[in-house]
Amino acid sequence: MSEASGIMNDVRIYDEVIKCTQCNLCILGCPMFMGSRYDHFSPRAIIVGIRDYIKRGGSVDGSLIEVLFMCNLCKNCEVRCPSKIEITKIVMVMKKKIMGLFP
Ligand code: SF4
Ligand code: SF4
Repeated sequence: MSEASGIMNDVRIYDEVIKCTQCNLCILGCPMFMGSRYDHFSPRAIIVGIRDYIKRGGSVDGSLIEVLFMCNLCKNCEVRCPSKIEITKIVMVMKKKIMGLFP
């Protein structure tokens, strides 16, 4: 995924999130998880939540909204991710989408 390729739509986001192997190597660098010790607040949970959101046809649920807005975009997960998923970019796009749903 490059900057020049434009705004990520759901198809492009899905292409990214399906690269997640659920290895969970990202979790110990995540301040959301380290602060809560709750698996729901983790990069993997973001990925799984977004995958489900796309499978549902774009309907967001409260738990996805919660974890997206808990993420502080620190990029610690991206450094650890062997699949090189640009999680923070996806989080930012999703936040914009959600804010557009609630004008
Ligand atoms: S960018 Fe978000 S999901 Fe990734 S480690 Fe930081 S807080 Fe966690
Ligand atoms: S490190 Fe990457 S591939 Fe592994 S669980 Fe986290 S987001 Fe998925």
